[in-house]
Amino acid sequence: MHILLTDILTCPRCGPAFGLILLADRAEDRRVIEGVLGCSNCREKYPIRDGAVDFGAAPEPVADVDDADSAERLAAMLGLTGGPAFVMLAGPAAAQAAALLRIVDDVEVVTLGVAAADDDVAGINRLYAAGPQLPLASGKVAAVALTGASARALLEEGARAVSPVGRLVLDPAPADAAEKLERHGMRIVAQEDGTAVAVRM
Ligand SMILES: [Zn+2]
Repeated sequence: MHILLTDILTCPRCGPAFGLILLADRAEDRRVIEGVLGCSNCREKYPIRDGAVDFGAAPEPVADVDDADSAERLAAMLGLTGGPAFVMLAGPAAAQAAALLRIVDDVEVVTLGVAAADDDVAGINRLYAAGPQLPLASGKVAAVALTGASARALLEEGARAVSPVGRLVLDPAPADAAEKLERHGMRIVAQEDGTAVAVRM
């Protein structure tokens, strides 16, 4: 994980107001390979192994759909033109992380729950987390894509994590997405083939 990601990671037990303290055992080029993130509130420790942060969930493999066309489409929906910025991909879209990094400069992609691939590249930050809460501070991620089951399960958390000028992509968008997003101060600005793009009102 990129060392600056520490600033926006939070304790999944204590909630988004509780940041984590990094103890890096091994770092290369501003990326922590081995270390620990500790919560000063509940004293829980979350290990970093092979650059991935283990928040207590088993990583799952994701189908390899890493192709340039769908990454271009994803980048357009997320409104990504360049960084520095953190982008979060949850669900099947996480397979686009490497392709997205090839077409958008200076972004760090955070993936949720997805196991490392053989052709992993720098710029992918893996979080092994499950449960209803994202271990991320509020309003700090430039763009969030929630795909597959995560579109429904993490809709509200995604809306919370996205920055004031950021975008939230839901694929597929749940039927009650507009109503739920409105409660979090967001509205849908584009909708196509079951995918919705939302921005802050
Ligand atoms: Zn805690």
